[in-house]
Amino acid sequence: MPYRVDRAFRAALVAGAACAALISSATFAAAPAAPAKVPPVNVPLMRQVIKTLSSDEFEGRAPSTAAEPKVLDEIVARFKAAGLKPGNKGSWLQDVPTVEITASQFSPMVVKGKGIAPMSFTIGKDFVAGSYRFVPQTKVADSELVFVGYGINAPELGWNDYAGLDMKGKTAVILVNDPDYEMQGEDGPFKGRRMTYYGRWTYKFEEAARQGATAAIVIHDTYPAAYGWNVVQSSWTGAQYFVQSANDGMDQTVANAWVQKSVAEAILKAAGQDLTTLTAAAKQKGFKAVPLGLTMDLSFDNAIRKATSHNVVGLLPGKTRAHEYVLYSAHWDHLGRCEADKTGDDICNGAVDNATGVGALAALADMNRRAGPAARSQVFLAVTLEESGTLGSEYYAANPVFPLARTVGGVNMDGLSPTGRARDVTVTGGDKSELTTLLRRVEEDMNLSETPESHPERGYYYRSDHFSFAKLGVPMFDVGLGEDLEKGGRAAGEAASEDYTVNRYHQPSDEYSDSWDMSGMAQEVELFYRLGRGLADGKDWPNWHPGDEFRAIRDKSLADAGKK
Ligand SMILES: [Zn+2]
Repeated sequence: MPYRVDRAFRAALVAGAACAALISSATFAAAPAAPAKVPPVNVPLMRQVIKTLSSDEFEGRAPSTAAEPKVLDEIVARFKAAGLKPGNKGSWLQDVPTVEITASQFSPMVVKGKGIAPMSFTIGKDFVAGSYRFVPQTKVADSELVFVGYGINAPELGWNDYAGLDMKGKTAVILVNDPDYEMQGEDGPFKGRRMTYYGRWTYKFEEAARQGATAAIVIHDTYPAAYGWNVVQSSWTGAQYFVQSANDGMDQTVANAWVQKSVAEAILKAAGQDLTTLTAAAKQKGFKAVPLGLTMDLSFDNAIRKATSHNVVGLLPGKTRAHEYVLYSAHWDHLGRCEADKTGDDICNGAVDNATGVGALAALADMNRRAGPAARSQVFLAVTLEESGTLGSEYYAANPVFPLARTVGGVNMDGLSPTGRARDVTVTGGDKSELTTLLRRVEEDMNLSETPESHPERGYYYRSDHFSFAKLGVPMFDVGLGEDLEKGGRAAGEAASEDYTVNRYHQPSDEYSDSWDMSGMAQEVELFYRLGRGLADGKDWPNWHPGDEFRAIRDKSLADAGKK
């Protein structure tokens, strides 16, 4: 098994032992070569791209606005200059057809049952709801409520909360997060405190649809959800974005909703049940779903608007294995015009988020031009609609220009910080795949330590573009420089990141300045170069670790493609 790190090897790395001998041992015989020479990072080029894309002229890069063609032209020009080829059958662009749905005219959510007075809940205060189907009207009537615990079907763990159920016509009532999130460590079946994809609310709605449920209701709870009701309420209010699908989303449930915890408590009480008791039961393997003997009514209207945006696809063909691909991705879109600040500035320029990622794409293409092509082909993907729910990457992954089973892995870049060089790397998602082997080696070559993610329970790995690929099996890095800065250490790094989160993130003040210290960004781009080039010059197919939630889909995809 090439590419796998055994325990002893990992222990040696953690202990900081010299590991040249181990690397050349049989375990690593076919491990990717770290690039012997790393071309210099073209910092002036990065500055120029970031400055241009985040200038007021680009109006904050909202998709499908007058700004979009300017953004696309700029990216294509940079890709051309780096010698890339148009990646999509002779075109630089991939159309991303989208659907914008704005719901209104919500009825109350009414819960009825024998011997109880009907309960009526209010939109916003008690519940939020939406439809993933592109239809003008949504109506759920007399749908039987079934408490399905965490709503998880994980065959690799022998865990199925829907076992023996026929959900047709019914509404699943589901707990957020996964059964072992309250553990301190990460040894539980669902990685303990660390959130797995089974814990994400997006998964809950997808699985309910696969089970044929008419509707799904997730019970909000602040700690396991990782945010308060206000966040749920604001993100489910106003326009919601989807990629167009051939079936107009008809394979989805009729309606999806969240309810406040107190609402769930009231509903369960009316059913003669108790949320605390049922939650405890749902944490046990073999938990059996509980029909509540109640029904739910809900209706609302949907205004539907269709639009098109674009991903930009550049290709650097490989020298020897041109039909194997390594991805670099970064989203080009941002929020566009937004709420004005005190000075009246209403352009959310998105300099850090994510003009820096596109600047890094340009710099990486430029470095590879100088180094010459790698063995495998490299794909440079500037995706759209990340801020609307990672739709551009989702669309690419569902309609890949290069087959996913031929895509070895990749690096996504979202928000490089202008805060100077660091001494550490942060890995989001933890040690999920055999990519860790390459990462550890690059860390060593660059003399960087590794800092674990500070909030593994929040599931950040499942919230940016790399996840669109991971979900369909392609192993993806979500790594970046950490906060242990060469100048000022952790105190300075944490202060800088706090300052960004509070004063700039998703605000008009996320702007470029010539005073930016680019040394950390250059260091980070070098890290990305070594990771991508390491994969592109290697021969291996790193997989997810056994037991990881994406292992089965990768195995299947590789097997289907005759790779194994
Ligand atoms: Zn971003």
